[in-house]
Amino acid sequence: MKNIDTYNFAGKKALIRVDFNVPLDKEDFHITDDTRIRAAIPTIKKVLAGGGSVILMSHLGRPKEGPANKYSLKHLVAHLGNLLNTTVKFAEDCIGEKATSAAAGLKPGEVLLLENLRFHKQEEAGTEEFAKQLASLGDVYINDAFGTAHRAHASTTIVAHFFPEEKMFGYVMSGELNSIDKVLKNAERPFTAIMGGAKVSGKISIITNLMNKVDNIIIGGGMSYTFFKAMGKQVGNSLVEDDRLQTALDILKTAKEKGVQIYLPSDSICGGKFDNAAQTVHCLSFEIPDGYMGLDIGPQAAEEYASVIENSKTILWNGPMGVFEMPTFESGTKQVALAVAAATAKGAYSLVGGGDSVAAVNQFNLADKVSYVSTGGGALLEYMEGIDLPGVKAVRG
Ligand code: AMP
Repeated sequence: MKNIDTYNFAGKKALIRVDFNVPLDKEDFHITDDTRIRAAIPTIKKVLAGGGSVILMSHLGRPKEGPANKYSLKHLVAHLGNLLNTTVKFAEDCIGEKATSAAAGLKPGEVLLLENLRFHKQEEAGTEEFAKQLASLGDVYINDAFGTAHRAHASTTIVAHFFPEEKMFGYVMSGELNSIDKVLKNAERPFTAIMGGAKVSGKISIITNLMNKVDNIIIGGGMSYTFFKAMGKQVGNSLVEDDRLQTALDILKTAKEKGVQIYLPSDSICGGKFDNAAQTVHCLSFEIPDGYMGLDIGPQAAEEYASVIENSKTILWNGPMGVFEMPTFESGTKQVALAVAAATAKGAYSLVGGGDSVAAVNQFNLADKVSYVSTGGGALLEYMEGIDLPGVKAVRG
């Protein structure tokens, strides 16, 4: 693979897979959050500054049956043009005559956006012939869509095979990979993973993979109560996955064997119902009265967790400590977020990833106080599980 920083783009047409899957207003198709578009700007500008032209391809939404106006990337053209301070051309299809003639006419410094890749079923099917047609549009392939790197789709993976040498990662992709690799492959100790969220079942593979790398695993959120129940404790009406009790015990056993310290919340804030206005009680997490459910870690657990976090040099955080969307149950997640920020200020490296923990750091205005906030979602989770992402492999080899 090549390196975007040293590659000579002069006279080259760069075919860039971006993630422009942005939310659009249902009425007038106005972009309601342009974060993903903004994220791709440095890669686009790098190619243009180097004397190349840019062909952008992306999916938008989940169109079921071919083209649909509400999923058209044409709604992004004007805003993208404003961000780049240039005119953006648009091809009404990503393959065929419309795409080939628009790509052929591109001059250095020009930008072309192709219509939604998923208007063709072959995109998600990863069809070779479709990927070949996409590949024919450019001289060099750049993958800058980390969020879809776990999918072996035509534009994310298969297309790379048609560029045996001339392929590379864009800045979004390399930023994500460098940050995750720093944590998973080069962590400074002590390394603490904070795992939260609703269920154990979604996190087992990640916890198993992390078990070989971390010193501490802090557990919070709904998944804690499956552990307590597995240990024969009283968890009231808390969320429990009864089919994962043995899994929870296995995790505790493996941690002991590997010398990994597991932290479970000593106390909880419990609600009489799953409601912000619920009547609450503060109790030990293994003595939750009937009729109450643990909806946040308690102050004692938050203090203990903050101390472990603040003494760590590497922190990986995935999943909230409670139902942080409800102000009554946000405190534990907020304390943990503040501790991650404090540790980062003292020199620790902190990576926050996975939908809800990202929402949490944003809610508490702490996104710029942690080292890296991943936008990866499913791709990040699979990478943390130790899976070789097809989109990464196709470029990196
Ligand atoms: P996940 O997608 O598995 O990371 O779960 C995130 C969701 O878990 C958030 O929407 C939280 O509101 C929810 N959650 C966190 N703690 C609890 C809890 N103790 N009981 C029920 N749901 C929880």
